[in-house]
Amino acid sequence: KRILICTGTSGISAGAEKVGQLFTEGLERHGLHRHYDIVMTGDRGLFRDVLVDIVSPDNERMTYEYVTPEDVPTIVEQHLVHGEPVKKLLAGEDYRQFFANQTRIVLANCGEIDPESLDDYLAHNGYKALQAALNMSPDAVIETMKIAGLRGRGGAGFPTWMKWNFCKQAAGDQKYLVCNADEGDPGAFMDRSVLEGDPHAVIEGMIIGGYAIGATEGYVYCRAEYPIALKRLAKAIAQAEARGYLGKNILGSDHAFHLTIKQGAGAFVCGEETALLASIEGRRGMPRPRPPFPAQKGLWGKPTTINNVETLANIRHIFEKGAEWFASIGTEKNSGTKVFALAGKVKNTGLVEVPMGTTIRELIFGPGGGMLKKKDKFKGVQIGGPSGGCLPESLLDTPIDYESINKTGAIMGSGGMVVMDTRTCMVDVAKFFLDFTVAESCGKCVPCRVGLKRTLEVFEEITAGRGKEEHLAFLQEMGTTIKSTALCGLGNTAPNPVLTTLRYFPEEYQAHIHDHV
Ligand code: SF4
Repeated sequence: KRILICTGTSGISAGAEKVGQLFTEGLERHGLHRHYDIVMTGDRGLFRDVLVDIVSPDNERMTYEYVTPEDVPTIVEQHLVHGEPVKKLLAGEDYRQFFANQTRIVLANCGEIDPESLDDYLAHNGYKALQAALNMSPDAVIETMKIAGLRGRGGAGFPTWMKWNFCKQAAGDQKYLVCNADEGDPGAFMDRSVLEGDPHAVIEGMIIGGYAIGATEGYVYCRAEYPIALKRLAKAIAQAEARGYLGKNILGSDHAFHLTIKQGAGAFVCGEETALLASIEGRRGMPRPRPPFPAQKGLWGKPTTINNVETLANIRHIFEKGAEWFASIGTEKNSGTKVFALAGKVKNTGLVEVPMGTTIRELIFGPGGGMLKKKDKFKGVQIGGPSGGCLPESLLDTPIDYESINKTGAIMGSGGMVVMDTRTCMVDVAKFFLDFTVAESCGKCVPCRVGLKRTLEVFEEITAGRGKEEHLAFLQEMGTTIKSTALCGLGNTAPNPVLTTLRYFPEEYQAHIHDHV
């Protein structure tokens, strides 16, 4: 029998480690320690303070939510000793609704396995995909990725197989595969959760990618603000090295792959590929013009592929269950699932994984459980973080896929989703995100450095009750100009919150200007 305790950043901040310790002591006190394995897992995705599952050998489970250290003696005595579940602590309907409406591939192991145990990962089919991939030629691996149709989950949705193929075909004695774990969007935490809950899945995806493109060196670029993810990743790398999954002659093959962690200092712009590479090289993290693209000239001038955490965590499943299986999930051009960080005025906040093609409404009112309170009325949703866009109720039935979301003026981004009710001022929302991008702009190019600042100044006028009609034309023109002339993705997308709120919520700007609020 197992006791699963969610111990990611969220669980730990709610006291999961103490809960784990008290379960250990309680089991020993009652002589039950040989009957239960306590498994400290990553977070499962729904933030209900500490989640605890009591799992029987035939995998039946009872879930407790909002467990505090004070609750543990009651659960031990009543449930584990006398077989009577503690009803008032059992997870409720919201919990079931949250998980019933998800398709969990990337998050499958989060909240289920001990991320610090290679044996637990192996017991959940870990590294079987690697063996299958190593039995194929690198071309066949890329062909498998083509059939699967996986697109990069970092935001742009570029086909992963194509990225790999460009790098494979590029001339170079040394190639690199880099994992972008510089998750910088405020409110986005899917990469952190995957690294905390299932680090070996990311490593396995990287080794397969390295084999496909001919890279023998890999880097994980992860922000230093993620200490638990970094600790578990470092431990997983050491375990994989010790057991022959990393290093020379992996699983008896000719393939070698070495992995190094590089900690980032938390600059949003370092999520941009060329800035990220500069930072790994020890230079200031600033973007450079492309071409040359990293696939031709990347890290230290060598061909380099950069994939994000969620992309890499999908790969083992493709080689384990088959490319056709993966392609059958989602839509024709957008296969697989997408993980979203659901936040704001919604009942169930946390990480949600749904098939591509699910509508925004289905996500918010399915796993999300709808608005936080019954009297709250939906007003808008910000998709894609600070570079994304605010969408109104009339677009709630937009399917979640790269093309449909882009058409609305928002972007998929890495998957942030903030729900807002009618009490939210959309002009304030746009200003909030603009504040963020102004602070995070690296200053290298004029449209972004100067244009965003001038835009923010106009927002300050409008929100101070000094707005004028001509300000709106200025915001529109400046936003469009920055989008098309900025050097990198940060500037190309930073005006999105401004442009989408102007487009979908013009009456709110009018109210500020004419009512001087
Ligand atoms: Fe730097 Fe902004 Fe220009 Fe990107 S768009 S290079 S972040 S100034």
